Amino acid sequence: MQDPCDDFPTDILRWNFLMKLGCFLLILGFLPALACGQKDDSLSIKLDQAGYPADAPKVALVSTPGRTFQVKRVSDNVVVFEGTLSAGATDPNSGDVVQAADFSGLRATGTYYLEVPGVGRSCKLTIARDVFSRAYYLAMRAFYGQRCGAAVDLGPEFPGYTHALCHLEGSFHASSGKQGRRDNVGGWHDAGDYGRYMVNSGITTGTLLWAFEMFGSKLRNIKLNIPETGNGTPDILNEVRWNLEWMLKMQDDDGGAWHKQTSEHFCDFIMPEDDHLPSEVIGTGKAPYKSTCATADLAAVAAIAARVYQPFDKDFAAQNLRAARAAWAWTERHPDVTFKNPPGISTGEYGDPDCGDERLWAAAELWRTTGEAQYNRYFVDHYTSYLVSLRALDTESWRLVAPMGLWAYALAARADADPSALAAVREAALAAARKTVERTRRNPYHISLSEGDFHWGSNGLVANYGMELLIANALSPDRASVEAGLDNLHYLLGRNTFSISWVTQVGEHPFRHPHHRPSGADKNPEPWPGLLSGGPNADRQDPVLGALPAGLRPAKVYSDDQGSYASNEICINWQAMLVFLLAGVMQ
Ligand SMILES: [Zn+2]
Repeated sequence: MQDPCDDFPTDILRWNFLMKLGCFLLILGFLPALACGQKDDSLSIKLDQAGYPADAPKVALVSTPGRTFQVKRVSDNVVVFEGTLSAGATDPNSGDVVQAADFSGLRATGTYYLEVPGVGRSCKLTIARDVFSRAYYLAMRAFYGQRCGAAVDLGPEFPGYTHALCHLEGSFHASSGKQGRRDNVGGWHDAGDYGRYMVNSGITTGTLLWAFEMFGSKLRNIKLNIPETGNGTPDILNEVRWNLEWMLKMQDDDGGAWHKQTSEHFCDFIMPEDDHLPSEVIGTGKAPYKSTCATADLAAVAAIAARVYQPFDKDFAAQNLRAARAAWAWTERHPDVTFKNPPGISTGEYGDPDCGDERLWAAAELWRTTGEAQYNRYFVDHYTSYLVSLRALDTESWRLVAPMGLWAYALAARADADPSALAAVREAALAAARKTVERTRRNPYHISLSEGDFHWGSNGLVANYGMELLIANALSPDRASVEAGLDNLHYLLGRNTFSISWVTQVGEHPFRHPHHRPSGADKNPEPWPGLLSGGPNADRQDPVLGALPAGLRPAKVYSDDQGSYASNEICINWQAMLVFLLAGVMQ
């Protein structure tokens, strides 16, 4: 991916100062020392720091040679399980030689650690029926922290994690075809920056709504402790609505949607309320000013919302359906209006030369919601060109949403589906998942990434593969798909070459320095909780990665450094994939 959450280094001097302050505080003992990776502990023993479900396979990986391992209970250091490490296997992505410690036979719930004679002891691990609900809570609640146009307060659980009302005033940029002031409230800050982008909002919001549609029985009663909690609507839908309402505001009277609303350039590393750069609705610069990809994404997402919100707020559901229809009609009149940053605008572009896949997704969702023949016909006439996107490598992204459209058609379970289209989509989706499962099993770290996958946002891709596997399981239940999805989650939560949990404040050894303005600019020692790091990126598009030693294997090109926007930024689309994966594997 290019410019997935593109951002640029700002105010390096300020960062240096914060680093020095952090080191000083660490010396004084004001920061929590890492609970593992110290003294006799070993980051050579890699495991999921959130834990392992009691009835799931349990494997830790060891990257310093050993022979045997023990699992000990934290409370009394009693050995509860013993085993022999597997033969070493060389991981092509990292160069690590890893041995597996399989303790799947341990099912008793509790808190443990692994000990490998001659290597050391691991971070703590939990075995329980449900080990991911805390990570889900934090990851989903992270969207609340990204709210724009709201005063945010994470409450007594995270004192000091607040931001004041931000970005209340907006205006139309000349490229939008309109002028003057503009109501500017709502939406989520996209990433480490404070922009809001329709295309990235599209896949993010769609993925979260799907998470509710597919796993709602697990999610509907989970309280996120947000201002709307207790209003009778499930909190995941309350939070998603914050962004949906902004997306709806980005629709012009003619049905088209503007591409983004940002300042002309990124602000410094400051809190959102301190960013006073004008927030502008930015268009394509000439008629019709709105873009097809943004408008089709709106059509798809609003069509999903029309069915998901129906039981909770009929008026809002109807408003979404009207918006989706109008957006679709606009894309019929303007099927190929692409977006590039107008002169003078340097915020994320989210450019995409082909909006056919966005239209396919919109048609599938509109048909799934309404059953109307016109949408079904569009899908049936166009899907064959996109079947190739259901592949075992390089799954969906903000730029390529064809898999969302194809999956939507297969998941719809409508009697009026075209039998040939349905069969072809199912076959392609399941074949891709089978290949992904095989690749995941072969990989010594048990992840679906191939050596060529370590680009910007590789952790997001890990979660994407997890989503692909869980959707395949929904189409045709298969334990192997779920377990491979779980393996990808284990990687994100600590079973990786760095033994790092790539979700802030989750696990004993989480990353701590995201490229995320509120985390960098506030006074809290730890970053805002629940945020997923972009992850290793062999393309090294920032100076921090550029300064890493030459010749590193791709999985090693990462730095837990705020300045590494190409490997350590956060982004709402990756965040949504993480939420989907967590929701899918939660008990
Ligand atoms: Zn804001």
